[in-house]
Amino acid sequence: MTGPVSTATDPTEAVLSESALSVHGVCEYVVNVATGCRHGCAFCYVPSTPPVRARTEMISANVAVDSPREDWGAYVLYREDLADRLDAHLDRKRTWRETDLGGGIVGVSFSTDPYMDDRAAAIATDVVRVLAEHGKPVRVLTRNPSRAVRDLETFEQAGESVTVGTSVPSLDAEAVGALEPFAPPPERRLEALQTFADAGVPVYVLASPTYPDQNDGELRSLFERIAAVDPDVVFHEPFNVRSARMQQTIRAASEGGCDELAATFERLDDTAAWVENAFEQSRQVLAIGSELDLPVHLCPHYQLTQAADGEIREWFEAWRGRQPPERFGGRPLPGGPPIPPGPRSGGE
Ligand code: SF4
Repeated sequence: MTGPVSTATDPTEAVLSESALSVHGVCEYVVNVATGCRHGCAFCYVPSTPPVRARTEMISANVAVDSPREDWGAYVLYREDLADRLDAHLDRKRTWRETDLGGGIVGVSFSTDPYMDDRAAAIATDVVRVLAEHGKPVRVLTRNPSRAVRDLETFEQAGESVTVGTSVPSLDAEAVGALEPFAPPPERRLEALQTFADAGVPVYVLASPTYPDQNDGELRSLFERIAAVDPDVVFHEPFNVRSARMQQTIRAASEGGCDELAATFERLDDTAAWVENAFEQSRQVLAIGSELDLPVHLCPHYQLTQAADGEIREWFEAWRGRQPPERFGGRPLPGGPPIPPGPRSGGE
C-alpha cells in the first residue's frame, strides 16, 4: 500500500557524505538514492535534518508539497544518475576514511529507504554494484527487503562486501502499521531477510526504535524471531521521545488504535521517566541477547545520553563509540566483556 506521492528527479549533486552514524559503528559514509521517503514513518528524524531543512525551496519547487517537513512521506526526488556519478567520484577519490568504528563502510541509504519502490531500487542496486566494484564495504538498510531480494544476484556477486539489514522495532503489526503506515509489516521484512541469509549474504537487524510500552515478553518474542534469521549483529535503539516529530508520532499511534502506546509516549514527556524506561529496556535487551547468544549492540541517541546523568549517562556514553560485535568491514571485534555491566547491575 502506498499513499499519494509527488515525484521528481533530484538535482542534488552530492554523491557521498561522511556519516554521523560512525559513532555507533554503523557506517563511515552514506549514499542516499533520493530525497524524501514514501514510507512516511511518523517518527522519522530525517525531515528535521539539514538535507531537508536546508533544501525546502528546492524540494517545494520540484514536487507538489507546501512543507517538505510536514509533508514527509508525500514526496520523493530520485537521484537517477547517481551510480554513474558515484563511479566517477570513486575513480577520482584519493583518500578513504576508515576508522576502527566506521570501517570505511558505506551506508545505502539512511536518509531514505533505498528499496521503497522500483524506481529507487533500480538506483540502489546500481549503487551497490558500483561500490562493490570499487572494493567498498556496503551496508544496505531497508524496510522493504522483499523488493531488494529481487536483485539478489547483485548481492551474491558482491560476496562478503555487502551486508543487508532491515528495521524491526516490534512484532506488533498493528503498532508498526500505525507508526510506519506505508512500510511492509515486520514479519514480511524478516522473511525477506531470511532469503538473503539463506543465499549466503551477510545480514543484520536494526531493532529500532523499540516502543516504550514493550514488556519483557514482547521484547523476548521480538529477539527470538530475529535470532531465527541468525544475523551477524542486532543494533538496538529505544524510542527517542525527544524527536522533533513526537506530536505527529503520538497522533499516529492514537489514530492507529494504539492508545496505550500514545499514552506511554505522553507519560515519557517527563525526562526522568524516559531515561528510566530507555535504560531498563536497554538492559532487558542485553540480557535477552545474552540468553539467545545474539550479538546485540546498543545505539543510544545523543539526546537520551544527554538527558541521563550519573552512572546511567556514563553507561550510555560508553556504548556510543564502542565497536559493534561484528567483523564486517574488516573491523576488530570490541575488547572487554561482550556485555559491559550497566549501573546497578552489581557487575553481573
Ligand atoms: S523508512 Fe527510514 S527514511 Fe523512510 S520514513 Fe521510515 S525512518 Fe524515515
